[in-house]
Amino acid sequence: MSFSHLSHLECGRCGARHDSERPQNLCVKCGSPLLARYDLAAVRSSVRPEEIAGRAPDLWRYHELLPVRSPESVVTLGEGMTPLLPMARYGARIGLPRLLMKDEGLIPTGSFKARGAAVGVSRAAELGVERLAMPTNGNAGAAWALYGARAGLAATVVMPVDAPEITRRECVASGTDLYLVDGLISDAGRIVGELVAASGGKVFDTSTLKEPYRIEGKKTMGIEIAEQLGWRTPDVILYPTGGGVGLIGIHKALAELRELGWISGPPPRLVAVQAEGCAPIVRAFEQGERESSYWEGANTVAFGINVPKPLGDFLILEALAETSGTAVTVTDEELLAELRQVAALEGTYVCPEGAAAFAAARKLRETGWIGEDEQVVVLNTGAGVKYPQTVPVDAPVLAVDAHLV
Ligand SMILES: *Cc1c(COP(=O)(O)O)cnc(C)c1O
Ligand SMILES: [Zn+2]
Repeated sequence: MSFSHLSHLECGRCGARHDSERPQNLCVKCGSPLLARYDLAAVRSSVRPEEIAGRAPDLWRYHELLPVRSPESVVTLGEGMTPLLPMARYGARIGLPRLLMKDEGLIPTGSFKARGAAVGVSRAAELGVERLAMPTNGNAGAAWALYGARAGLAATVVMPVDAPEITRRECVASGTDLYLVDGLISDAGRIVGELVAASGGKVFDTSTLKEPYRIEGKKTMGIEIAEQLGWRTPDVILYPTGGGVGLIGIHKALAELRELGWISGPPPRLVAVQAEGCAPIVRAFEQGERESSYWEGANTVAFGINVPKPLGDFLILEALAETSGTAVTVTDEELLAELRQVAALEGTYVCPEGAAAFAAARKLRETGWIGEDEQVVVLNTGAGVKYPQTVPVDAPVLAVDAHLV
């Protein structure tokens, strides 16, 4: 009985096979992201979905479909099995009475980046990596820094100066080497790339999709949604898309579950939601392209989705095409207004990226792309409390002896 049924790594573009038992970055043939492949027949004969119900409520309950070989290698802060909440009042308001929210705000480090970090860090440490380096828009760097600390790994993180401030404090607290760059995540990526190249293999590049296991952590959102719905899938899943790892991961997870025979029927239509100020995927989708082109002047308050040229763009666009999905933009004004609507009607303080996905659900209902009777899942990818500036406060200040009556 294996803890993991990982068999090998496969290039997402050219299909070249790579050894999964040593640290790997991009495909050596074509430079594209590598995807983990499993012996699904062995998974099918070793575990039934009903057995999983009895396991601990974290993402490691799906260990057969994760890349970590040994239970002793698992680095965990209790991530996973976040609530799938009905959003009845807000849903009724926007014409989607069956709306659900997968709330990643409750996860360690306050964003779903914890999933990718838990699995990526565990596997990197298992394979003997000692130092990580990565560019980030904030949340990923914070998560990898903290999980890295738990695993005893050193880390170098480079983030834009205007990334959410709390994320740099998380890096500093965890003892990470932190650098701020007066630019975008793409600028941070170039700096990290040079550091890694000059390190002679001593520093492992954990940039988005440049190592294969972050996506495995994030795919567990897709498995959880299916399990929480009784091994069924919803009609539509909306996802705030930056690097697109979560969307690619959910698509991958549902394909694996279908092959296992644990779910059936048509896949949920996947929706990539982007901000109007940074929408390379939406533009490529609308123009029928297979890849995106660099988005000049990227800018949005939804910092986690401010990615001008995602490395896995072709995988995101493939996932949209294969599921009859779509890609839409919302403005910063729309998402900030939505954030307050959701909090006022449901008591959930979502992150700006999650708010963008809610605003997109509203728009797609208005255009009729989503029907009233459809079951819709919105991913809230992080905790609103990580972004204290998104809601302005002009509350009156009272004198200590004041009265309100
Ligand atoms: C990183 C991030 C995203 C985008 O995730 P990708 O998988 O890179 O598309 C969305 N929301 C939040 C809060 C994030 O931190
Ligand atoms: Zn390749």
